[in-house]
Amino acid sequence: MCKICGCENGQLRIEGALSPAHPHAHDHVHQHDHDHDHDHQHAHAHSHAHDHQHSGDGALHFGNGAAGASVPGQSQARLVRIEQDILARNDAIAADNRRVFAAAGVLALNLMSSPGAGKTSLLVATLALLGEMRAAVIEGDQETSADAERIRASGVPAIQVNTGKGCHLDAQMVAQAALHLGLPERGLLFIENVGNLVCPAGFDLGEAHKVVICSVTEGEDKPLKYPGMFAAADLLLVSKIDLLPHLDFNVDQLIANARRINPGIAVLRVSARSGEGMQRWLGWLRSALALRQAAE
Ligand code: MG
Ligand code: ZN
Repeated sequence: MCKICGCENGQLRIEGALSPAHPHAHDHVHQHDHDHDHDHQHAHAHSHAHDHQHSGDGALHFGNGAAGASVPGQSQARLVRIEQDILARNDAIAADNRRVFAAAGVLALNLMSSPGAGKTSLLVATLALLGEMRAAVIEGDQETSADAERIRASGVPAIQVNTGKGCHLDAQMVAQAALHLGLPERGLLFIENVGNLVCPAGFDLGEAHKVVICSVTEGEDKPLKYPGMFAAADLLLVSKIDLLPHLDFNVDQLIANARRINPGIAVLRVSARSGEGMQRWLGWLRSALALRQAAE
């Protein structure tokens, strides 16, 4: 049961990430919630200014402006202001999270991937091998508590954060989830982000490391298509390598692409199913945790 509000289900529902229309972080509401009136409006752009540029290969590129993105009816300057506003607020809370984690000697890891790369399966397999290391898990998904239930079934404390229409976790969600969950003193806090290779990379949660997981059932070109994610990560876990005999996937090409984006990225090849590579991953976790303790 939650120590703060007495809820039984261990599931946070956080409506709306920090957003420009709602400058204050929303309090979370539990399952016994009331409907909020959302007073957002849909902006109807009447300008048909063309924000894209033509690349040499004939592609239309909407990311070459100052904001790096395009929204109908919004100027690049306004988009830059909105993003700076959201991220500044997020980063302040992330800095608080980082202090709280450090005070408890906790190593927090932000696990990110596209949907279906096997984050939760890898976590379940990892938790079974932790031995003396303590751990807790924050599970991010748009809906359902399925993943937190899978983690709790392995005996490790877990809390689900549902983001609704939100496509990433933010620092405020993690702060509230950590309060409800309690921190694993001198242990590992795994934060499984919403499956998405795009915006989770931009939101600091207060983690010590961002870890990107890419399965061998995806494409070798993922790092080139989603460079922001691979640039932000300290570690790439290539997952589901037990499937390699059945695929034409070229792991070396994936790693070369990742290092074109981020020459310093560490890489480990793992299979939650066969156990291959898991001891090296556990070794990485053990050293990262030891470094965290040494930094105190
Ligand atoms: Mg999952
Ligand atoms: Zn998002």
